[in-house]
Order: sequence, then structure tokens, then C-alpha cells
Amino acid sequence: MSSLASLDVAGKRVFLRCDLNVPLKNGVITDDGRIRASLPTIQNLLERGASLVIGAHLGRPKGEAKPELSLLPVARKLSELLGEPVDFQTQGSAKILLLENLRFNNAETSKDDSERKVFAKELATYADLYVGDGFGAVHRKHASVYDLPALLPSAPGFLIQAEVEVLKKLTQSPVRPYGVVLGGAKVSDKIGVISNLLSKVDVMAIGGGMVFTFLAASGKEIGSSLVEKDLIPTVKELIETARSKGVTLVLPTDIVVAPEFEIDATPTLVSVNAIPQDEMGLDIGPESAAAFSTEIKKCKTVFWNGPMGVFEFPNFAHGTKVIAQALTEVQGISVVGGGDSAAAVRALGFKDSDFGYISTGGGASLEYLEGKVLPGLQALGL
Ligand code: AMP
Repeated sequence: MSSLASLDVAGKRVFLRCDLNVPLKNGVITDDGRIRASLPTIQNLLERGASLVIGAHLGRPKGEAKPELSLLPVARKLSELLGEPVDFQTQGSAKILLLENLRFNNAETSKDDSERKVFAKELATYADLYVGDGFGAVHRKHASVYDLPALLPSAPGFLIQAEVEVLKKLTQSPVRPYGVVLGGAKVSDKIGVISNLLSKVDVMAIGGGMVFTFLAASGKEIGSSLVEKDLIPTVKELIETARSKGVTLVLPTDIVVAPEFEIDATPTLVSVNAIPQDEMGLDIGPESAAAFSTEIKKCKTVFWNGPMGVFEFPNFAHGTKVIAQALTEVQGISVVGGGDSAAAVRALGFKDSDFGYISTGGGASLEYLEGKVLPGLQALGL
């Protein structure tokens, strides 16, 4: 497998797979982090005389051309950031063509290998070479991520290389103590990574909506908080594993509750032992945030994925802010894992440069830490 530097790209047409899956609100990009993260590879290829066909996805259109998931606003933003014209959907005179959302075609995400291969063959006719730089999609066995690189001379881009380098630091002899902080909505998304990391980390702190399944498994009353009841036995085993392996499992001791899931819901601070039956936990409390923060700052390697509460509602963003702040103070490597976590810390007023590294791929980095083979990395020989 070639490296980007060794690919002879001058005068060639390169199919570049990027992750441009940015958050949009009423057609306006609310966080352009993923577009910015794609720029170094794009600029390098242009400087070396290549022309580009960029393939990317937005959201989950499930094979349908949904106008609200069109990449047109991304084409405009990309052009603005590069200071270069970008053609969209059909080739014009620009050196860069951004294709429409690849997931508008069912074959991109198809589980049927032959269907995907037919689509990959069509994409291969657009270019001479392939560069894979869409880290946020490398855990997907999709046509443009997995099948296409097998059909053209290929190399990983700078973003994928940087992401893999950081993840290697977390998996191959991390400097200790090593701590992870996990939050977000669902435990089911994170069971794999929790169970794999329990044999690797020294500290694991858990917050967010997923913590209530942990609290329920510890026998606490959780009111109307988010819970995945079917996972309580699994979570009990994880708690036991943490104990037997000597991992410090940090759970909240106080919770900010509200009667409903609303931006203007009235917040009340309660002990974790006194969550009212008719209220739901929407953030970890200040005592918990301070305890999490103390543990984080003792670590030399920290990975964080998922908000500690409903940070989109200002009254329930405190826990996430405190954790983000603690990460900026780590004396060692601090990694914010995931496009959504990254967008969250930027929305809370932190700068990218405040952190050691901000990964663009939440699902991808979690699966990497879970020890899984990622199809898009495998296809690039990484
Ligand atoms: P994820 O995509 O799994 O990382 O989850 C992110 C989402 O989890 C955010 O949109 C948060 O609003 C949500 N979240 C965090 N804490 C809670 C909570 N206590 N109850 C409900 N949702 C939560």
C-alpha cells in the first residue's frame, strides 16, 4: 500500500473519500469541523497537480434522494474555505468536483457485496487513483470506503493517518494512569468498548443518559431517566469486571433532574440516592463533575466520548463543560473522540487547540478502541 506522498498524482484524477457529515440546522452548517479536517489532504493533492472527485455522505438518507441531506451547502462551504471553485454533482471547469451524497444510492451502504461492487466499479471510472480520508466512515463496509480502494491504486490521506496514529497511542502501551470518560445517550452503543477497555484502563468515569442503566444495575431508583432495562444484567457484569480488575469505576453521586425533557424544564439538584420517581436525570451534578474532573486530571492519557448530560439545553450543560475543561488541563494526551463530542465542546466555547487531539469519528474511534477490524482501514492497508 502506498503512502499519500508516494502516489504520483500530478495530472491525475483522484477519487477522494472524505467525511463531510456535518451538523445542519435549516440548511445551515452549524459546525464545519469535519470540512476543515479534510482540507490538508485536499490542498496537498491540488498543490501536486491533481484534480479531485470528492465522494462523501450526509446523514442516513437510506437510498433516497432527500433534499435536506444534499451536500450542496457543504460544496459551498468547501469552496469558501479553499478559496477555489468547487463543482457540485456534475463536472464543470473546477479542479474539484464534489459528488452528491453517496448514500442517496442504496448500493453505497448495501449489505450485498455484489451490489456494492457494481457501484464501486462505477465510481472507479471517475478517477485514476483513490485516497481514503473519511475517518468517520472507516468502520463502515461501504462501497466508497471498502470496495473502491481495491479497484484503484490507493493511499490513506493525512486525516486518517493522524487519527490512526493517535488511536495507536491509546491502544499500544498508553502512558499511565489511563482514563476514559464515556457519556451520551445509549449504553448499547458502548457495551463493546466498555468491556474491552476494562482490561486496559485504570479509571473509567461514566455519565450521560447511559449512566442510569449503571445506576439501575447498582440498585438505585432512577425515576423516568433514560434506561435500557434489558442491559441491566450485562451492566452488572461490567461493574463486577471493573471491581475484579481493579479499575476505578467513577459514577455520579449527584444528579440534575427535571420533570420533562424540555429546554426550559426546571432543574433540581438531588443526591443519586434520591432521584424522584416522576423526574429524569438530565446532567451529572457539580459534586460528580468535580470528582470526575479530579480523576481525569490525575491521568496521563485520557479518552472522552459522549456528553455528560443534555448539553444542548443550557441548564443541563454544566457537567459536560466541567469535563471538557478538565480534559484541557490533562498533563499528557487528551483525546476527544467523535464528531458530535467535538461539535459539543466547540458549541460550549472551547477551541480545538485546547485539546490534545479531537477525533472526527466517534463510532470509528470507539470501534478501533474496541479492538475491531475497521473495513475502511483494512482496505487502505492500515
Ligand atoms: P451519543 O450520540 O450517544 O453520544 O449521545 C449524545 C446525546 O446524548 C446528546 O444529544 C445528549 O443530549 C444526550 N444525553 C446526554 N445525557 C442525557 C441524559 N441524561 N438523558 C437523555 N439524553 C442525554
